[in-house]
Amino acid sequence: MNPGPGPVGRMNGYALIATTLGAVAVSVLAVLLLSPGQGPPVPDGPAAASVVAERFTPAELSRADDYRSWGRLIGLGSLIVQLLVLALLVFRRGPVMLRLLAWLGRRPLVGAMLCGAGISILLSVADLPFDLAAWQLGRDFGLISQGLGSRLLDWAMAAAIALVPATLGALIAMFLWLRLGKRFWIAAAGLVAIWAVVTTWLWPVVVSPVFNNFDSLREGSERTEVMRLADRAGVEVGEVYVVDASRRSSTVNAYVNGIGSSKRVVIYDNAIRKLDQSEFRALVAHELGHVKDQDLWRGLAFAMLVIPLGALFVQLGTVACLRRRNDSPEGPAVIPALALMATIAALVLQIPGNVLSRSVEARADRTSIQLTGDPQGLVDLQVRLARSNLSDVDPPAVWQFLFGTHPSTLDRIAIAEGAR
Ligand SMILES: [Zn+2]
Repeated sequence: MNPGPGPVGRMNGYALIATTLGAVAVSVLAVLLLSPGQGPPVPDGPAAASVVAERFTPAELSRADDYRSWGRLIGLGSLIVQLLVLALLVFRRGPVMLRLLAWLGRRPLVGAMLCGAGISILLSVADLPFDLAAWQLGRDFGLISQGLGSRLLDWAMAAAIALVPATLGALIAMFLWLRLGKRFWIAAAGLVAIWAVVTTWLWPVVVSPVFNNFDSLREGSERTEVMRLADRAGVEVGEVYVVDASRRSSTVNAYVNGIGSSKRVVIYDNAIRKLDQSEFRALVAHELGHVKDQDLWRGLAFAMLVIPLGALFVQLGTVACLRRRNDSPEGPAVIPALALMATIAALVLQIPGNVLSRSVEARADRTSIQLTGDPQGLVDLQVRLARSNLSDVDPPAVWQFLFGTHPSTLDRIAIAEGAR
């Protein structure tokens, strides 16, 4: 697999550049193909801006801005440190690391597993200060009620869960790498695609219950409301659960996840406690909008379209890393290089993924209004969500473009105002 010095290495470089451009082009096409119809254009903000000025005091806006600015700093710090840890493992190894890699290389498959486990633990530990900073920030602003012990337990459980795919993934990757050579990416893409579908299916029934309790939404006015809206939307909701989010924080939310037999609508207990009837209706109708428009499948389809070239990028990038370090292409040094390139690929592909997500969320807001016939309910909901979750109503444009999974509060109010 190692192209060695000279023209073969240069060919790998050209192929890497071509694949990067190809992957970007495919992801843009995938967004265009999968974005739902935009509906009427969102009116340019004066109405929404005046709603914000009416409903929030300057002190509230600046407090939310303060909270979110610190949050962005912590998020960015965590991201940079993760990349730095992986880059150091690939490009800057001390004598101890080199001896360790040589030792692990004596049994490549077991060595790869240990390498995968080690990287996973290292990344979890490197992230701990940021996790604690986010926890402290949430407590300072009154959003998080969870104690330190329970937060550390959450961190340890998440780290333990992450170990499983990291160890198995490294083993399978090494096996395929040694067996398939240049065709590695084809098998890797197939497996990652299967993994995406399986985790979407099993996550809500296997992983989520480790962290929270999920109870069926009991008979009562809320359940009647959900069923009435589902009926109007013409969708099969699957199960409707209430999650004990209040164990950790005071934020208000709801989501849909799972596919097939694990499909479900999940409502935070905080939402049931804090929202009035029209806000609750707008929230549930938004989630049912996702079910109606099959948005989980839309997300999976995006993944299926971008995974193949993403996997080729990871393979070519890994070869380039090994070549640069003169590492054996058959040793465990393959694993950190694969991890670094996969992290970079995921980060870059997340950007078009978020463009798609924002358009899907905007459409779910419009579907919500169609189902409830109550744009004011959606405006009230956005105000309530922003207030209780301390959302930045109008985040910095660059941040919103790169990382925003939902339209900003200001845009969501504008969507509702536009539907009047
Ligand atoms: Zn949504």
